[in-house]
Amino acid sequence: MFAKTSEVKVLRDPIHGYVHIDLQVVWDCVNSNWFQRLRRIRQLGGAYVVYHCAEHTRFSHSLGVYEIIRRMVTEVPDIVSALNEHDKVTIMLAGLLHDIGHGPYSHAFEAITNTSHEVFTCRIIEENTEITKILEKATKGLSKDVADVIRHQSKNPLLTQMISSQLDADRMDYLLRDAYFTGTKYGEFDLERILRTLRVVDGKHLVVKESGVYAVENYIMARYHMYWQVYYHPVARSFETILHLLFKRLRDVKGVSDPSVIPLFKTVIMQKKISLKQYFMLDEYAFGYGFLMLCNHSDAIVRDFAERLRDRRLFAYAESEKDQNRRIRHQLKKRGYDLDYYWSKDEVSQRPYEPYTDSRGDAIWVKLKDNSTVEMSNASNIVYSLIHGPTRDELNVYYPKESEWNDEVKLSE
Ligand code: ZN
Repeated sequence: MFAKTSEVKVLRDPIHGYVHIDLQVVWDCVNSNWFQRLRRIRQLGGAYVVYHCAEHTRFSHSLGVYEIIRRMVTEVPDIVSALNEHDKVTIMLAGLLHDIGHGPYSHAFEAITNTSHEVFTCRIIEENTEITKILEKATKGLSKDVADVIRHQSKNPLLTQMISSQLDADRMDYLLRDAYFTGTKYGEFDLERILRTLRVVDGKHLVVKESGVYAVENYIMARYHMYWQVYYHPVARSFETILHLLFKRLRDVKGVSDPSVIPLFKTVIMQKKISLKQYFMLDEYAFGYGFLMLCNHSDAIVRDFAERLRDRRLFAYAESEKDQNRRIRHQLKKRGYDLDYYWSKDEVSQRPYEPYTDSRGDAIWVKLKDNSTVEMSNASNIVYSLIHGPTRDELNVYYPKESEWNDEVKLSE
């Protein structure tokens, strides 16, 4: 039995109304230093330079994922009966902690360090941190059980599907939350309807009832629109491109010993193994300060990139096209720009849904009236057409805006 809090804690939330917490272990995790660190990491990386209200954090998203899972394990009858108490608490904690290993600017930081945030998430859960101690105090072995769900190794496949599949609590929360804070309406869908139509087949497969197909179609379309309107927005990618190039330049010029480099950046620049003690301090406050300091770096390109990030002086972007690329590169070169740093290509591609028809995998399954199950694209004409159409991809090039070209170039010193 897991200890309850003396009263139910209710936290106001613009997406879910309230987040309800009545388990001591969940409440202790929320109040831990590592979870509070998530207040210092934005949910959407560089998107706040495009959508000025997208300042919401991994902290609020993590609470939101927890709340959706709490509702699944208490309100969806098939899930209530399929899981024992230990599994219910494990999956609620996995929802709460699934993003605890994110670094500053989330996915941009993963690209700089070449390490997925899930690696840090599992280390923070298991390597004797405040979180590990809270989990182990609640029940011995709980930290491993929670980490196993996050690394897709849980003994119970139902738990993995609830947090990491194509219809999971993580996506449901971030689509609604990101739509709300960016002010885009595309990410909205009917969460209540989806929760109401969730079913469990054979005690371990999460499916949706046939009458929930329209709500799921809407959710898949919401995801598609959010990717192109928000997550892959070229201006946000421009910010993240400069962030990436800044660290590339610092590495290339061996600029680590310059007094303007804060100690935390040294580990990142030199690509040494990051200790959890260092990782704890790597947040967007530290990065913001680090950029300000780098505005005094002895290398002109480092200085320029740090100032660009500070002042939102971003690169222009254009669809990659041979003749145009040649023309722009020629002009940049003529003006003294080093094309290793002032020319960057970036490709993104996205399908709103993948069927993986050969196994159950993480696809969405629909339970028909005769109790048989079919994969979502066989139950929905819209989803069928989506996955049989071409994959949309976008190859962009990023470079200084033409309006800057006539400024005196002071970068070739
Ligand atoms: Zn998440």
